[in-house]
Amino acid sequence: MSLTVKNLTKRFTASGTPAVADVSFAAAPGGITTLLGPSGSGKSTVLRIVAGLEQPDAGQVLFGEQDMTGVPAQKRGLGFVFQSYALFKHMTVRKNIAFGLRVRKAPADEVKRKVDELLSLVQLDGLGERYPAELSGGQRQRVAFARALAIQPKLLLLDEPFGALDAQVRVELRDWLRRLHGEHDVTTLLVTHDQEEAMEVSDRVVVMHDGRVAQAGTVREVYDRPATPFVAAFVGGANVLRGLMVGGRVSVGTLAVSVADGVDAPDGASVHAYVRPHDVTLTKAEAGAPEVSLARVERMAWLGGTVKLSLKLSDGAPMTVEMPKAEVQALSINEGDLVMASPRDAKVFLEDYSI
Ligand code: ADP
Ligand code: MG
Repeated sequence: MSLTVKNLTKRFTASGTPAVADVSFAAAPGGITTLLGPSGSGKSTVLRIVAGLEQPDAGQVLFGEQDMTGVPAQKRGLGFVFQSYALFKHMTVRKNIAFGLRVRKAPADEVKRKVDELLSLVQLDGLGERYPAELSGGQRQRVAFARALAIQPKLLLLDEPFGALDAQVRVELRDWLRRLHGEHDVTTLLVTHDQEEAMEVSDRVVVMHDGRVAQAGTVREVYDRPATPFVAAFVGGANVLRGLMVGGRVSVGTLAVSVADGVDAPDGASVHAYVRPHDVTLTKAEAGAPEVSLARVERMAWLGGTVKLSLKLSDGAPMTVEMPKAEVQALSINEGDLVMASPRDAKVFLEDYSI
């Protein structure tokens, strides 16, 4: 079932800025759509309005063609997973998972069959008689997923579901969520502030900024063609370099950066070029190269397959470059060396771009 959100606005205080302002997006049936944005950008408020836990001041929530805006939460047929596990501590895993089915007075044999199926789906076979306190964080969160899926929800709402787990478990559960979703393709709305998580699991992302939708699209669209400077910096990260438009290219110091997408800026305009750390080619400084074109390698962080180099450009500005380890070794670059840094691509915005 698809979800459509139309022009949602929500204020918590009469005078203040709205927590959510004119938010519209659609989530396709069976996909994972992610609300991605920094803390305070309005993601949870949108999710809670979709759930019926919060009423909007304006706007609509549609499930398929049906307007759900005034329908109470418990009548919306939703599954929820929040950051904190919120399992019933005094109930076993089986009883936690069965809870929604029992409330709906499902027959005992059906409850048993369904719980067995879900235990297996979330890879917790054999742990049904344990209590939440006897499980790891990742296992508890998988129980929460099983409990949410037990009632065959029309929509699955996930608010930072992996937020409380350690880094390694988070990464495992991302893979797991994608596989789970492959077997059980319920329309899912995920909230996260973690862009890596969003990029890994989502079919579509809705980037939120200050209560508004900054951009909605596939992960690749948002990454490759950011609509605003905020999106360019927040999704994927970028070096921000000041430059001038010269002959349709961006001149940054002594560098001319070609820009893949057309830039809507006249020659002579001051611009900011957003350069991804992996969109920079490094070469060793040649003897006699003009000093202004050189950068010094201040620090190298070996991250496994790639190396993150912190450079200082000749004007003192910092630049972060990420390169495959093999390339760095082939160039034999070391900390303290002088290098030439040539951006291969940039997203360019006028310097006085607002919002
Ligand atoms: P996010 O989930 O992106 O971190 P939220 O939707 O929780 O953002 O919050 C958006 C804004 O609304 C924040 O400024 C937050 O302080 C405010 N807000 C959220 N819930 C309430 C509430 N119940 N009462 C007052 N302000 C709230
Ligand atoms: Mg939140």
